[in-house]
Amino acid sequence: MQIKYWSTELKLAHTWTIASGVATGGGTNLSPVAIVQLSGDDGTIGLGESAPASRYKESVHGALDFLAKVDARKLSFDNIEASMKYLETVAPGQFSAKSAINIALLDGASRKAGKALYDYLGLGFHDKHHVTSFSIGIDKPDIIRKKVLAAEQYPVLKLKVGSPDDKANMAALREAAPTKWVRVDANEGWKTKEHALEMIEWLATDGHIQFIEQPMPAGTDPKDLAWLKARSPLPLIADEAYHTAKDVAHCVDCYHGVNVKLCKNVWVSNAYEELQAARKAGLQTMIGCMIETSILISAAAHLAELCNYLDIDGNILITNDPYIGVTAEKGLLSFASAPEKLGLRVQARS
Ligand SMILES: [Mg+2]
Repeated sequence: MQIKYWSTELKLAHTWTIASGVATGGGTNLSPVAIVQLSGDDGTIGLGESAPASRYKESVHGALDFLAKVDARKLSFDNIEASMKYLETVAPGQFSAKSAINIALLDGASRKAGKALYDYLGLGFHDKHHVTSFSIGIDKPDIIRKKVLAAEQYPVLKLKVGSPDDKANMAALREAAPTKWVRVDANEGWKTKEHALEMIEWLATDGHIQFIEQPMPAGTDPKDLAWLKARSPLPLIADEAYHTAKDVAHCVDCYHGVNVKLCKNVWVSNAYEELQAARKAGLQTMIGCMIETSILISAAAHLAELCNYLDIDGNILITNDPYIGVTAEKGLLSFASAPEKLGLRVQARS
């Protein structure tokens, strides 16, 4: 097995701002990711991607440093479990770099099996059933209005909140899309339970809000989160608070559902387990993303059958995606036009 890796700068259509700050590119419209390519001795190729989040103290620089330490001879498409155990001996943390290798291993393994990854995982993929939301970052109300009009083809929006303009931004969204379904993501932006409840009750009067994602900081006293859950008129989804299946019990007490992301610390193999664990515990499930190419977005789409909600729009927020995979016309995820039939169903754009 050989490994190649490189970083690439994704160009965002808009500067991406969320409650925890300008999330990418230091206020520019650039967001870096690292791409991994594994080549087996029989010529099988596997692609993966790392989109590290500063929220979890990870960076592309750190991911590349980690990848440089990996001895590819110890990786195998035929034994993913042992390969992942080896990666744990290379260095702790670096979850998004490990996720990139896990995805590349699964891409190669499913190609070798002659299957698309969703079939290799035993899940299948039902075209026309899976709708992704389209995210609108924090901005000024007049820009929000323009972004919402430009997103006309997407039936579900996700509005980022947690700024002093929350109510004005929601009003601007409604001017442009009066009755569209909206998911609201506070990204830990509401700091007291009273303020969070006031905002949620206000949002509930809209009538077309599906749920609220991570209303308060992940480290908030669970008693306060349980207080909020007991009173919230809208479902609450844990994102920054959900990392491993060990968090399921906490999330049952404090939230109605969980958002899994491949780069957060759950690569595809773990995400599969963690979505199943959450469903078993009666939690709603969602899969989300960072700013990513079609490699990571397609990898997440292969898990769609395990999710109540999909928020995998990172590749449609950028203007220079180097790969082709799952598409999201009118928000409907589809592999129907993907030229590649096996593995992740992703290939480089020519
Ligand atoms: Mg979120």
